[in-house]
Formats: sequence, structure tokens, C-alpha cells
Amino acid sequence: MAVAAPLLGLFDYLPSQAADAEPVPGQRLLVPFGRSNRVGILVEIAETSLEDPSRLKHVESVLDEVPLFQTTDLDLIQWAAAYYRQPLGTALFTALPARLRRPASFADDSVPGIRATPEGHTLDLGSLTRAPKQRALLAVLRDRPNGLTLSALGARLGDCSACARALEGKGLIERCRLKAMPQPVQTPSSAGHALNPDQRKAVEAIAESFGAFRPFLLQGVTGSGKTEVYIRLIQTLVASGRQALVLVPEIGLTPQLRDRFQQRIPGPIAVLHSSLSAGERERNWHRAARGEATLVLGTRSAVFVPMPRLGLILVDEEHDASLKQQEGFRYSGRDLAVRRAQLIGCPIVLGSATPSLESLHNATTGRYGWLRLPQRAGGARAPTISLLDIRDQPLRAGLSPVLRDAMQTELAAGNQILLFLNRRGYAPLYTCHHCGWVGDCPHCDARLTLHLGQQRLWCHHCGWSRRLPQRCPNCDGEDLRMIGRGTERLEEELRELFPQASLARIDRDSTRRQGELNRLLEAIRRGEIQILLGTQMLAKGHDFPLVTLVGILDLDQALYASDFRAPERTAQLIIQVAGRAGRADRPGRVVLQTRHPEHPLLQSLLSDGYSGFAAAALEERRGAELPPFAHLVLLRAEAPLADQPTAFLREARDLAERSDPDEIHLLGPAPAPMERRANRYRAQLMVLSRDRPSLQRFLARWNQGLHGLRHPKGLRWSLDVDPQDM
Ligand code: ADP
Ligand code: ZN
Ligand code: ZN
Repeated sequence: MAVAAPLLGLFDYLPSQAADAEPVPGQRLLVPFGRSNRVGILVEIAETSLEDPSRLKHVESVLDEVPLFQTTDLDLIQWAAAYYRQPLGTALFTALPARLRRPASFADDSVPGIRATPEGHTLDLGSLTRAPKQRALLAVLRDRPNGLTLSALGARLGDCSACARALEGKGLIERCRLKAMPQPVQTPSSAGHALNPDQRKAVEAIAESFGAFRPFLLQGVTGSGKTEVYIRLIQTLVASGRQALVLVPEIGLTPQLRDRFQQRIPGPIAVLHSSLSAGERERNWHRAARGEATLVLGTRSAVFVPMPRLGLILVDEEHDASLKQQEGFRYSGRDLAVRRAQLIGCPIVLGSATPSLESLHNATTGRYGWLRLPQRAGGARAPTISLLDIRDQPLRAGLSPVLRDAMQTELAAGNQILLFLNRRGYAPLYTCHHCGWVGDCPHCDARLTLHLGQQRLWCHHCGWSRRLPQRCPNCDGEDLRMIGRGTERLEEELRELFPQASLARIDRDSTRRQGELNRLLEAIRRGEIQILLGTQMLAKGHDFPLVTLVGILDLDQALYASDFRAPERTAQLIIQVAGRAGRADRPGRVVLQTRHPEHPLLQSLLSDGYSGFAAAALEERRGAELPPFAHLVLLRAEAPLADQPTAFLREARDLAERSDPDEIHLLGPAPAPMERRANRYRAQLMVLSRDRPSLQRFLARWNQGLHGLRHPKGLRWSLDVDPQDM
């Protein structure tokens, strides 16, 4: 059994002394652990134990009548723990809503019942002729996929508890929870569009695979009707009584998506993301786990939510880095979704306008079915992108004369303009013109960002801040200057440059207040805003059909970043921002300002679009033996003193080399790109291998050894399998 503690391995207990029914894997148990009781989850039942029998303790009590997890759920969680080298307890408790990690019983109004398992649904009833009562019971349950209470069954068939036990033993029925009151089923309020031929092809290909594992990449430009494809598939699926799971990077940013599903899909939708209250989350979790929600729409952790009748998984914006958890249990919601589909045998669709190079590689090598929607749906035209060389140009507000003129023209015509600047705050640098002092974070290797409205300097990495000094802290000089430009400054400058125009700024600072983002989006949709400016929040999820001109400012830094994924991310960002603009009668135009117009990334993106860029980038990765042509693991270490992490990683490297690994390459240790962060020094060791199984075998041994390594107090280390940020 796994207990809520970051420990490797499972713990053995004797059955509870109370005369409970036989416990079932997936149930929560209360067990004595150290000096107190803890919640554990029963993973397996064994006849023997390696522990000294006199030291084994009894389970205190069984907390759940019905197991929270089914066997396939436990299989997925166990697989994830092994793959990402995490204790099973950590993985199991990540999969549980927070309230259920404590002994509390459910925030729930359900009653226990039974229902047919998938085997029970497909079994030939003729094979039960010699057990007519079992046959009758199963036949009734097959008509009620959500299940029935034993007393309801008794009312129809007489006492059937023995019969139910026999069927449960055969794996044909299982215990479940039932809603006490039947839920009203919403009827969908709107029909969809007639699908275009590309959409129809995609829907047919995926629907043909219902009932079997098959991964698909759905690559469709923004506005090509991917969501419409999802909706059709889910409609077809739920008509046969099954459930669908849709994973998205962030729900807070896309409330419209939920509305769209709600209007078109019959049956309750359970939404799961971090800004719901704990009670709401748990209730929705139960509705999914009871098989009652026909659709679960959630962020990455929803990949673990039990869904007894799951028949289709969709991952939208599959390239988005936030599908990967970046701390603690570092798992990829997307990759686990593929594994889950494989475990239960259902199709999975990864959708994006700008697929990750990993998924594209899987598509080009034929491992994934590759479905493409190259055209915008409903006749809208894709925007054209052009480069604007700003070298030697007189800039105002960071805008070249060409872009300013273009803006004037659009404003005069009553159109909307979008300006993208991926840096919030007023200025990224605050410095003394006399002595050269700059505002640095005392806890990080980072500059403080000036936020003029708040009169503060903020560190965007650790959250530390100080009041804006009026005189230089070093020489007491008065000539302090703000260098560079963030969205706050751009907004101020635009108000001077275009005094007549109405403006909206969209970034984390301007949308902090609850409901503010929606208020701004609504105003934009109604056409009350003429110029919208903002950070990458603008690149996610929202369409701005009235925008006819997009200006992308200052992406040059990203072109030369050290992370090998930086070009991929930059290309995705450009295409995603560009894709927000335009519709049928108002095609969009995108202008990208740069001082490096000859840069190969920009050139390939412009001449051949995202696919051309991706093909070139994949060739580069192949040459450099980087993912997806090799598998990557990072061992990260951080500690309060500068040389501690590197010293630990050197030992870790020795340990790795002593185990004489095949096909494993070690690189480093090296300091992390930002070595000091929140007063902790950070370093990393890279492990690369072309062969996944060798890598997994190596990691299993190495991870054990790492736990045995002595290290200074305060040092923390973690393995990051398939890291997204370097
Ligand atoms: P994506 O998810 O690829 O961005 P959507 O599914 O949101 O695309 O579709 C973009 C727009 O086109 C939406 O307004 C949608 O209603 C419309 N649309 C989708 N499919 C069709 C179709 N077959 N015919 C006409 N309009 C469509
Ligand atoms: Zn000074
Ligand atoms: Zn800091």
C-alpha cells in the first residue's frame, strides 16, 4: 500500500481487525504510520510479506466503501511513478483531490451501488444460461450503464446479494457510487456547422478507431475547426454511453471553450482546474469517477481522474509547455494521456496549430495518425506575415515608421490592432547614469523589473520587491534611468502617440483582478477597443476576429536564447499570435519587427510556414542528437552554498559511470541558466540516451543509488524525465 509520504516503495499491513468486507485495491485505508495514523491507498493484496510478521501492524479502518480508483487507474499511476522515478505515494496523492488526502469522507451525496464492467457489457449473455438469476441481473445492469443500488435491484429480482458477489468475482460487475438524485440532463441548444471535407475526414478516421488504442495528431491552423472536430467526436461517443476527457493547458484563460461544449454536448460536464474551490473540485471528481459526467474538461492533473466509461481522450494545444508539471512530481499530462489511452484501449487526439516537434516526429514516422486541417473553416483567410527590418529606423514607442503608418491607416478605417510585446512591467532595467548601479535582485542572478504604477522594483523570479529608490543607492546620484520597454510603458507611450484611440492592455498585472480579463475580452469583442497590447496571454485561446493588423515587437532576444527548445517556442508563439487575427471579410496582416531579418528561423517560418520551420528544426535536432532523436533526463540539484550542487552532481556522475551504463551519455554538471534563484544555487546534470528501455533500466538503478548518496543538509535534488525547460 502507498502512504502519503515521499518514500520509495510500498508498505505492508495486516487486514483490519474489524470485520469489514474484503478490501479492494483502490480503497483508502487509515493506517498507523510512525506515531500517528495516515491515509494510505490499497495497491495490492499479498499473501506473504518480506517484513518480520511480528512487526506488521493492522489497518486501522477502511475509509471508502467503494474503491476510489479502478485497476486501470492504478496501472496508470504506477506506470507514471515508475516512468518519472517518483515514489508511488507521491503519484497517488497527486491523483487525489486534496480533501481526500485526509481521512475525511466525501463531500458527496451518493450511495453505493453496482454496475456492469466493460466485460459485463460485451459478454455473450448466452454463456450464463446455467445461472439464470445472474443473467437476469446482468441484463438489467446492461440497460443502466450508470448502475443501480442493490435494493433497487432487489425490488425487481428479489434478494440478489449472493448473485452479485458471484458476478463481481467473475469481473462482470463492480461496485460503484450512485447519485442519490437523478441529474437533469441538459439538452444541447445549438447545432453545428456542416463539416468541410478535411474535418469530415478527421472525424471519420478517429471515430473508426473507437474501442481501440490509436494516437492521432490533429494539425490544424488556428480557426481551422479543430474544436468543431472535437465536438462531433464527443457527440458520437457519448451517444454510445461513454465518457470523453479533454485536457487543455489553462482553463482560466478560455471560459468560452467550456460554454461551447456545454451548448453542444448532452449530459453533465465536469470541469477540473486549480482555481476551483477544494469542495467543487472534489464534487466534480466524483461525478467523473461515478461515470456520471459525460465530459471531463481539465488541466494536466485531470489525466488521472477515474472515468469508468472513458472512450476518447483529446489534448488541445498539445505543444503547450504548461501541460507539463514543472515542480514536484514532474509529469507530462500529454504523454500520460497517450499512455492512458493505450492502457484502456481508446483513441487519443493531440490537437494543435503548432505541434511540438516530438509529436510531429511521431506523425511523420507513422507512429501517430496524421490528420491535417490546412484551411480556416468557414472561408476565413489566413493572415500574411512579413518581416520588418528596424535597423537604423527612427523608433517611437519601439514602433518603426512603417508600422506606425500602418496603424494610422487601420485606425482610420475603424479596424482593431494587436501589438504583442512579451515583457510585462514598465522597464526591464533601472540604472544610475552616474555610477552604473543597476537594480539587481539580492536573491537571484536577475535584474529587477520596474513597475512604475506601483512605484516598485520587482523580481519576476522570486517575487522579492523594493520601493523605487529616488536616489542611487550606491552614489546617491539623482540621475536614475529606465531602460527598455515592457507592456506598462508601451501602453503609456501609445496613449501619447494615438491619443484618440481606445486601448486595452492584457498581461498578468492588468488582469489580476477577478473578472477583469473577461471584461477586457468582452470590450474587445464588441469592438470598443481599437488597440490591444499584451504579452503571451494574447497568444492563448482567444480569437480576435476584428483585428486586421498584428505587430510583433522585440522577439530578437528569444532568437538567441540558450535553451535548445527556444527556436521551437518562438516559432509557436509567432504563429499563435498571428493566428488570432482576421476573418472572412477582413484578412489579417502580421508585421514582425526585427534586427535580424536574415535569421534562418524567421526565414524558414516566413517562406514555408510552421511546417517548413518544423522540418528544418527537426533536422537540426537530429544532427545534434537532441529530443526527439534522443531521450533526455535532467538531474537537478539546489543548495544554499555555491559549490554544493555541483559537488553532489559530480558524485552522482561518478555513481552513474561506475554502473557502466550502455548507450547513456552524461553531460555536466553545469550551473543552471540562472544559477542563483531565491538564494539557492542550482546546477544540473544531463543524461541522454537514444534507447528508451536502456535509459529506464539505467534510471531505475541510478535513482536507488542517488537515494543512498550523502549530501549536505539543505541540498535538494530531483530527476526531471523529458524536461521542458532547461
Ligand atoms: P480551431 O479550434 O481550429 O481554432 P474552431 O473549431 O474554433 O477552430 O473554428 C473556428 C471558427 O470556424 C468558429 O467560429 C467555428 O464556429 C467556425 N467553423 C468551424 N467549422 C466550420 C465549418 N465546417 N463551416 C463553417 N464554419 C465553421
Ligand atoms: Zn549611482
Ligand atoms: Zn529574485
